[in-house]
Amino acid sequence: MNGTSSSFDELKARLAEIHYLGQAKALLDWDERTMMPPGGAEARAEQLATLVRVHHEKLASEELGRLIAEVEPFGEELHYDSDEAALIRVAKRDHEKARRVPVELRGAIARASSIAEHAWREARARSDFEHFLPHLERNVYLKLRYAHCFERDDVYDPLLDDYEPGMKTAEVAQVLSDLKEALVPLVAEVSERTATVDDSVLGRRFPVERQREVVRRMLGALPMPSDSWRLDETTHPFQLSMSPTDVRLTTRYEEHGLASIFAGLHEYGHGLYENGVDPALDGTPLAKPTSLGLHESQSRMWENLIGRSVPFWQGFYGLLTEAFPDELDGGGPEDFCRAVNKVQPSLIRIEADELTYDLHILLRFELERELIGGTLEPRDLPAAWNERVRSYLGIEVPDDAHGVLQDVHWADAAFGYFPTYSLGNLIAAQLWEAVRSALPDLDDQIAAGSFEPLREWLRESVHRHGRKFSAAEVVERATGKPIGVEPYLDYLREKYEALYE
Ligand code: ZN
Repeated sequence: MNGTSSSFDELKARLAEIHYLGQAKALLDWDERTMMPPGGAEARAEQLATLVRVHHEKLASEELGRLIAEVEPFGEELHYDSDEAALIRVAKRDHEKARRVPVELRGAIARASSIAEHAWREARARSDFEHFLPHLERNVYLKLRYAHCFERDDVYDPLLDDYEPGMKTAEVAQVLSDLKEALVPLVAEVSERTATVDDSVLGRRFPVERQREVVRRMLGALPMPSDSWRLDETTHPFQLSMSPTDVRLTTRYEEHGLASIFAGLHEYGHGLYENGVDPALDGTPLAKPTSLGLHESQSRMWENLIGRSVPFWQGFYGLLTEAFPDELDGGGPEDFCRAVNKVQPSLIRIEADELTYDLHILLRFELERELIGGTLEPRDLPAAWNERVRSYLGIEVPDDAHGVLQDVHWADAAFGYFPTYSLGNLIAAQLWEAVRSALPDLDDQIAAGSFEPLREWLRESVHRHGRKFSAAEVVERATGKPIGVEPYLDYLREKYEALYE
């Protein structure tokens, strides 16, 4: 036992080193995307590559494998829910994933995707798919080789697992196909009902200086301790945390519209999750959110389920009219919510409304599975894309820049990423159903600006676990049922019914 406990201490010390290297890398990433002058790019690429290499060497080292093997029998005797058992489980999984992929292949993927991203930017600017095609072909080929490094039921499984650990392709395909079946007719019905809704207010000019003030005051009124986060500006909003009490949020301000508010709320949801991880897990690989799907469930909850709801704007509309007395035209929170929830099929995913958004994801998920599975040739992708947009969204794609070339994910070789967006929507609604039954007067609390009970529920049921449990385990424990589509469909139907009856 003494031998085991000293091995366990040594394992924890090594895992802490790996963890802090990861946090240092996060700081370099954050700095690159918010603060760094362009002249820093070359040195930053070297700094990051060095950290990534050292991080990987430590994680894949035989020494770490030996320590994990030594403590594994001890872990099996512990309760599944204990921090130690979870630490051994997660460390073993991370270590094995790091070891299975040859260093040469990892390097090839990193280089190919960096060159592909460059080519993709040019291709998108000129709407020239042919220019991107050889890079896409190479990324598909390399990710296929990557997938073959792992045992799998489906060739897409190892790719999905990088973003949604423990989830199988078959499970995701089932829920997303259920979702599609219900969404296609629902989009047609609701977009017809909202066609005449006047959302012109969202096209007006809102001086950026006052938007900044609104976003700061709004996020400042939400329940994250003010000494644990900061807000900066960037081109593509994101959230990164150096630790649970060092959360970096970003948003983007444009002269027209109020997208900065919803981007700010989105990133706030991500940040609150990171902030809620149990401090006892600090310095271990457990001290982070467990999957992209669960992460996204938290951002979408704050952006959409809370941030596009009438109770939220009953609380915050005064802040908006105070900042923009002339820009808003005398409507109230209900009118504002009708405008920000208008449903209209459109070409660009990141500009899509809440209801049509998942259709953009579903077609990407289907197409990337076909690419990886070998049933769709990369050169046939634009035609397949356009056909699916027509069939799911009922619109014509005018050119590849507004179609297959719009997202960076495939240029980054990030196959397996897209479905986590829709999983996030499903999980958000399922958790929301549970929190509403736990807090029956939640709407009144939100309207009154009292977010602590909600924050406590989320922290207790979701945030504090970090990576101790998979997303599926967290959802099942918090809601009593596996991840499914019904709570999401109920939420959508009720929402649009109430707003536009
Ligand atoms: Zn997000």
